[in-house]
Amino acid sequence: MPIKTNLEDLRDRKLKFGVEIQLVSRAYFAPEILQDGMIRVFPWDTEVTSWTLRRMRQPRFHAYIADLAQKLADWKDVDILRVPIGDINTVNLVGRAMAYPSPVHYHYNCPHCPHVGTEVIKVPDALERKAEKPADYPGWDETILLDSQDEVRFRPMEVRDLIDVEERSEDSKRVIDDTTFNVCRQVVAVGGGTPTDMEEVVRWYRALSPSDAQQLLEDQKEAHPELETRIAYRCDACDGNFHFTLDFNTSFFRPDSPRRTEGKAPEVVRPGVEGGGADPGPDQPAG
Ligand SMILES: [Zn+2]
Repeated sequence: MPIKTNLEDLRDRKLKFGVEIQLVSRAYFAPEILQDGMIRVFPWDTEVTSWTLRRMRQPRFHAYIADLAQKLADWKDVDILRVPIGDINTVNLVGRAMAYPSPVHYHYNCPHCPHVGTEVIKVPDALERKAEKPADYPGWDETILLDSQDEVRFRPMEVRDLIDVEERSEDSKRVIDDTTFNVCRQVVAVGGGTPTDMEEVVRWYRALSPSDAQQLLEDQKEAHPELETRIAYRCDACDGNFHFTLDFNTSFFRPDSPRRTEGKAPEVVRPGVEGGGADPGPDQPAG
C-alpha cells in the first residue's frame, strides 16, 4: 500500500523552503550570474547535519565553511574561491537559522548580573548590513593612510585568501605572519600602481608606520561587506548594556530541541582576523 501523507506539495524541501536573499556584497564578483546579488538559500537540514559531522573530522577549517555555504545555497556557476567571507557567513547563518522556527529564541548570560535572559532574533532581517556595496561597486575600496598619505585600494577578503593562509607552508608562516599575509593579499593598488608580486606589497606594508599598518587593517575590516553579528543589548534585569555576538557557538545555534543531533559547528570567520570568530571583548557573554 502506498504511503498516505498529508503533504500536498511533494517538491524537494530546498525548493519549497528556500528563500531568496540579497548578498551584502551585491555579488560584485559574479554580477552576471547572481544578478543584483540575489541568491537562493536552502534550510540546514538532516542531510547537512550528517555531512557536517563527517566533514568536521577533516582538517582545513576554512575550506569547510566554504563547502558548507555551497551546500546551503544555489551559487550556480560562481567560483566559490572569489566569494567574500562575509557572504559565506551570511549564507551559513541564514541557512542555519532556517532550520528552526523563526524568529529564533536564544539565551544570553548578562555580564553585569547573574540574569539569564531570552531574546528573539530574526535572521537576516534583524542584522545590520555592514558596508553594503552599491550596484556599481568596482570590486575594491579606497583609503588614504594618515601618516604616509599613501592612497591604497584593497578588495574584500575572499575564500581564496583564507584557503591560501591555511595551506601555506610552515616556512612561509615563519617569514610572513598570518595578519600581514591577509592584509597584503587584499591590496590591489598603492598610489595607482599595481603590485608586481606579494613580496613587493609585504615590503611596503612592513615599511609603514605602526599606525598606518593598523589603519589599513581596520579599514579593510570596516569595508568588508557582511551581516553585523555583534548586536547591542540591554539586560532585562539590571539594565546593563552589553554586546552579544552571534556565531555558530552561541545558543543561537543551539536552540533547545530534543531532536538535535549535530556536533560542534564552525564559528563565523571574521575578515582580517586570524583564526575563527571568537570575540574576546570583555562584554562577550559566556556563550
Ligand atoms: Zn544584568
